Amino acid sequence: MRDTEHKHEQNAAELRLIPFFQPKIDMRDGGLAGAEALVRGVDKDGNIIMPAQFISEMEKDGSIGKLDFFMLENVLKQLSEWKAKGLPQIKMSVNMSRITLFAPKTLDTVLEIRSRYPDIPVKLVEFEITETAGDVGKSALAHIVDSFRERGFSFELDDFGAGYANISLFSNIKFKAIKLDRSLVDDLPDNAISSMFVENITKICRNFGMECIAEGVETRQQAESLLQAGCVYGQGFYYSKPISALEFEARYLNGPGISVKPDMV
Ligand code: C2E
Ligand code: CA
Ligand code: CA
Repeated sequence: MRDTEHKHEQNAAELRLIPFFQPKIDMRDGGLAGAEALVRGVDKDGNIIMPAQFISEMEKDGSIGKLDFFMLENVLKQLSEWKAKGLPQIKMSVNMSRITLFAPKTLDTVLEIRSRYPDIPVKLVEFEITETAGDVGKSALAHIVDSFRERGFSFELDDFGAGYANISLFSNIKFKAIKLDRSLVDDLPDNAISSMFVENITKICRNFGMECIAEGVETRQQAESLLQAGCVYGQGFYYSKPISALEFEARYLNGPGISVKPDMV
């Protein structure tokens, strides 16, 4: 056991980390609504290593904070590069682990990183946090989220519906968007309960002034069923897998017939 753990640690430390980007799509017309940055590891032979193989190790050894800040910095750098090239500015979300979220110096570090990219409006950066972040107590979470919001950052509630689908979370906490977990989308369009759940969550989102984004959209039927339920934003392999910055730029920012949603920017 010790040997295995040691080996994993070595592997995580030996990886070069890079951000990949997955588009968030306006499913009504296929336009680009934003993107999510997802980390990838590259080993010494150039193989791409998925986060499932090193994230939990980083959470255990405490290096997850460094990863989240590294991703934030890279996202800002990328947006800045695209801006310098005259490409459209898009909203980009960064995953923030609950460990990072609740660490006392996180806001200061985030502000310090952000100050190095004054050309990028802060409203373009969003943090995705998971429903389990609410386990520590809604008021503690609300307090942290508010302290970031005062500085212009916004939050998305990730993986909603994967756990208890804790609706009271969004009556207490101001989220910019709710991300419907892949497990709900997987059941569409055949499962009537899932369809109804999606429809109702979408309605709540609309009433609370939040956006609703479906994760893990893999088929046209799922996209259609989500649209029918009123959920207009989607992310998933049906549209695109997470891709490198170069590929993202070519396909979504620089390609022929690109469409970036002005209302989401
Ligand atoms: P997540 O934040 O829920 O990200 C969505 C995951 O679903 C990504 O996996 C993405 O590639 C995958 N996905 C997207 N569309 C589809 C689809 O249509 N079908 C299927 N089957 N999967 C889809 P990925 O990139 O392997 O990331 C896994 C998890 O690792 C993320 O889940 C997130 O919790 C974590 N993660 C990734 N990057 C970071 C990071 O920079 N910081 C932190 N703290 N966590 C990260
Ligand atoms: Ca996420
Ligand atoms: Ca998710």
